[in-house]
Amino acid sequence: MNYHTTFSLLLILLLACGKETVEPDPFFTIQPASLTLQVEAGSGNKFFTVKSDKSLLISSDHPNWCIPTLSNVSFDNLKIAISANEMFEGRTAVVTVSNGTESRHITIHQSGKQPQLSVDRSNVTLQHGEAQFSLSVTSNIRYTVELPEWIQLKGEYLWQEGKQLYTFTLSALPDELLYREGVLTFTPVDAPSEVMSLSVQVMQKGFTKVIAHRGYWRTPDYPQNSLASLQRALDLEIYGSELDVWITNDGVVVLNHDATISGINIENSSYADLKEVRLSNGEPIPTLQGCIDRVKAQRKTRLVIEIKPHATTVNENRAVAAVLELVNNNGVTDQVDYISFSQNICKGLIANNPRNRVAYLNGNLAPDVLKAQGYWGLDYSSSVLKSNSGWVQVAKSLGLTANVWTVNTTADYDYFITMGVDFITTDNPLELKQLLATYQK
Ligand code: MG
Repeated sequence: MNYHTTFSLLLILLLACGKETVEPDPFFTIQPASLTLQVEAGSGNKFFTVKSDKSLLISSDHPNWCIPTLSNVSFDNLKIAISANEMFEGRTAVVTVSNGTESRHITIHQSGKQPQLSVDRSNVTLQHGEAQFSLSVTSNIRYTVELPEWIQLKGEYLWQEGKQLYTFTLSALPDELLYREGVLTFTPVDAPSEVMSLSVQVMQKGFTKVIAHRGYWRTPDYPQNSLASLQRALDLEIYGSELDVWITNDGVVVLNHDATISGINIENSSYADLKEVRLSNGEPIPTLQGCIDRVKAQRKTRLVIEIKPHATTVNENRAVAAVLELVNNNGVTDQVDYISFSQNICKGLIANNPRNRVAYLNGNLAPDVLKAQGYWGLDYSSSVLKSNSGWVQVAKSLGLTANVWTVNTTADYDYFITMGVDFITTDNPLELKQLLATYQK
């Protein structure tokens, strides 16, 4: 091989190599030039301008969610349609644009949706008579709702992405309950473990309840503080029947409103001294034991025992001890509430057992003072609660019950029901019971 031949071969080789070196095609351009896209989880379209003097081929390696199309009118417009990413993980697709001799790769990184579940409230308190409440739930994931049996979801339960308002209804609170508490639990379905269940505390407060004042009397055969009027109140199946008690000097607890009956001072007399006493319907003076026997025979209506202020602290303490002994020995502690105008009597009842339900009658102590002294509630006159109209809500916020006496007109029933008292003590228990029934429908 001579010099010329060698030179020619090298030249051919060089030319051949030169032909294989890819020169960028000046007619094949894509704008914008950045071929890596970071996109959000939502759906959307991305556009490029492509210029080429040759026919273009386009493809996607994930055509299920990343779909490139070229304009029908010219080859200049490339649209890439990107579907929403419902998954929590990010994902990547590559769109290839080729003019037959060279290719450009557009890489699309799409982030996943952040799983989200939130409820607008973590607790709900339903006041008197409220029978439904609503919750707004924001979520992009599926979840189930677990409910106590006394709360129902109103209408169909439908999950959908985004925000949804749920309305729940409540069944009536049983008469024997002042309130009840439950939990709604929203549990994610098929979500990553970091998405926690959410709970909403629900408290249902009872509607105003009826207490018959000195039994259900107001007719000749049913005198106040008699077994007959007590039985008539029990037959109404209301919350409670109030009665007034004194202790005789030989330790018998008897019913009467005043300190004397038929001219006999009760606390200075023996039970035998009272044996001739007759009420207007012919009954002997009732004993607390006789009333407890009636209450034990049913499990619905409670005794609200008012221990009257006696002439001496010694007699008050004897009365407290005797009443507690009767209640405990008869096993009716859960069927009895206590009230008194005497702070000494109330303190004795609370000291005996802090769980005794003791309410103060005299109207001269603010709710926070009662709370500090271990009272269960206040039981104040309608005039005291009208002139201290904030006390009922303060009492309730402190966890105390509120009772009002003695309320006998429709206007006052409405006033105190609206105020939110737990109990109304009335001489017209049937009338009030019927009024409350209309409110709860
Ligand atoms: Mg009384």
